[in-house]
Amino acid sequence: MIPTSPLLTVADGVHLWSPTPSTGWGLANCGLIVSPDGAAAWVDTPYDRHMAQDFLDRSRSLLPAGGRIGRVIVTHANGDHLWGADVLPDPEIVATREALGHIAYEPEPRQLHAMVRGSDPATPLGWYLQRHFQRFDWSATQVVEPSLTFVGELDLRIGQVPVELFGLPPAHTTGDLVAYLPQQKVAFTGDVIFASAPQDPGDHAVHWAGPLSNVIAACERVLATGAQVIIPGHGPVLAPEGVRGHIGYLEHVRDRAHQLHTAGVPALEAARTLIAENTFPSLGLPERLVITVGSEYRYLNGAGEPPAIVATMADVAQVAWELDEGRTP
Ligand SMILES: [Zn+2]
Repeated sequence: MIPTSPLLTVADGVHLWSPTPSTGWGLANCGLIVSPDGAAAWVDTPYDRHMAQDFLDRSRSLLPAGGRIGRVIVTHANGDHLWGADVLPDPEIVATREALGHIAYEPEPRQLHAMVRGSDPATPLGWYLQRHFQRFDWSATQVVEPSLTFVGELDLRIGQVPVELFGLPPAHTTGDLVAYLPQQKVAFTGDVIFASAPQDPGDHAVHWAGPLSNVIAACERVLATGAQVIIPGHGPVLAPEGVRGHIGYLEHVRDRAHQLHTAGVPALEAARTLIAENTFPSLGLPERLVITVGSEYRYLNGAGEPPAIVATMADVAQVAWELDEGRTP
């Protein structure tokens, strides 16, 4: 079944497509900004063409006559925020210059499509890929590369709606940005925030670049804008208190990772230790701590570029395989 979403109006001219289910890999929040003069933009796209078509059909129903979605602001270059752009006719894709460079680290969509379907479910990686990614269809996906890139900050207007973009130091990925709408006090944060709420438990955050101090600084920068409606990359819409709660999560993971690093515990064992401690039992996908703790260790060790995503996912899958004794399909 294709995850879909009604459009939820979060402020005047600002709408949210937030797929159900909201937890699991690849189900990101997407925004629609509509100016009264008909100019419109997306903030991020769904992961595949089927979900993106749902978002597009619903978006068009809210446009005034002659309106057009001419731009996509991409918070970062992970496929679950970018790969749906090819359902739009000739969009301008806006991203940081680092995000454009990050695309080379991601697998090609059709390569990933074939890898998921061709993988052996008797192996941890094949089991994990099929369990979490087989619902997506990238058989015809073309990556639309950013055509307007910037370094630092960029002030945009979507018709009559001002949008402030600020690029961030490496955090969730290299090349993250936050989009802030000062008139509506709405911030789209991308994946520097993975939200959870008591009624909507959410998943563990995953950070490919780090260090976590940069992710925490990004959250604090979002709060400093004065935003009252904070739309995370994944999970429910937050008020400022929710962002402060998420900072507490990030500080805990950072501090435990540093303690275990100081004690000489290898990165993968440190991730297993945090998972066993189960400090946040309501959060799903605890195996993502393998990635986040690994990023923090690379920072502490002064190492450079992150390892390839597929190699990292093999470790994630191994840990998930160990956690899931019953191997639910
Ligand atoms: Zn994401």
